[in-house]
Amino acid sequence: MRIVDLRATTVTVPLEAPLRHSNGEHWGRFVRTIVEVETDEGIVGLGEMGGGGESAELAFAGLKQYLIGHNPFELEALRFKICNPTASLYNNRTQLLAAVEFACLDIIGKKLGVSVSDLLGGRLRDEIRFASYLFFRYPNQETGKGEVRSIDQLVEHALDLKAKYGFRTHKLKAGVFSPDYEIEAYRALAAACPEDSFRIDPNAAWSVEQSVRVAKAIEGINNDYLEDPTWGLNGMRRVRENTNIPLATNTVVVNFEQLSANVLNPAVDVILLDTTFWGGIRPCLKAAAVCETFQHGVAVHSSGELGVQLATMLHLGAVLPNMSFAIDAHYHHLADDVIVGGKMQYQDGKIKVPQGPGLGVSLDYDKLKQYSELYKQLGGYPYDRDSRRPGWYPLLPNDRWADPSQ
Ligand SMILES: [Mg+2]
Repeated sequence: MRIVDLRATTVTVPLEAPLRHSNGEHWGRFVRTIVEVETDEGIVGLGEMGGGGESAELAFAGLKQYLIGHNPFELEALRFKICNPTASLYNNRTQLLAAVEFACLDIIGKKLGVSVSDLLGGRLRDEIRFASYLFFRYPNQETGKGEVRSIDQLVEHALDLKAKYGFRTHKLKAGVFSPDYEIEAYRALAAACPEDSFRIDPNAAWSVEQSVRVAKAIEGINNDYLEDPTWGLNGMRRVRENTNIPLATNTVVVNFEQLSANVLNPAVDVILLDTTFWGGIRPCLKAAAVCETFQHGVAVHSSGELGVQLATMLHLGAVLPNMSFAIDAHYHHLADDVIVGGKMQYQDGKIKVPQGPGLGVSLDYDKLKQYSELYKQLGGYPYDRDSRRPGWYPLLPNDRWADPSQ
């Protein structure tokens, strides 16, 4: 079987409300690029990548010369064809490789009539537990609804999500307001859901000393882990020496070089695997095997997904033996999806791993067209800017916190 074509379509899909984070904001929508890899047997595999817009489409178009004629079963050859580590010094294609790997796995699964999780060792679980992924949010620009700024609003939002979707684990995206305000918010969440577990992630916005102070302040909470409180392996190591709360990362251990550094001189306890950041589902499994060997925990990171990427996370979660945490997804913040049947459904805080061959999801071409047209109309947005704080940008560690009274 040979690849004969590759198509990339950028879409933008609305969120319930704009999501705030330490570097700025998701401006009321996600921009994603959906990839279709077509073979000479007529089988089409699906992939997905975040952000990028036109430049992502151009990057995939540029990959055609490498991929036309390639056998989609040859996944290791694919890695060296487009992602040789020394060539990558000049052209880092890790995220492109990830989208193509998803599509090739989808093709292989469809050809053999088995799901991606069956291809990857067989599923250990049929449904995957998710954390609530709570953000501070601006109100939806059209409806004026959905704001999460005060602590009361945050607790109400968490309880609403818990009632609607059944989450038993709550993640607070922090790094927006001052650490003291966010400590108070986190404690209020824990008090409102005493039987649940928690994690807080300021996207590395705190100094080492602030991180240690926050860690001490939240010690009494049922913490899964403290996620990326500060920047850098050395910073994380210094925090880790001063707290009993496990540390997790999706920023400073995102490749095998960093993983080996962390094994040799641990700075982080739990590695949050991301099927895009690591270059595919299979590299995540390799990394998970290293973590299993050295007794590091793993979970699955969310970089903001539509249904195709979510399927990769579900299949990964299904086959990971050492996944002892609920995984993250922005998914419930989305207003819609581009897959047939609409958004996948949560039940008791879990989503079922798709059963069909390959990734088990297919594109709704009307939705793809609708949200591709919306992208053409709206274009991209600056993820690392805040629509309501013109001229603002954060430092690292930050001290330019937003004001919760505004
Ligand atoms: Mg994170």
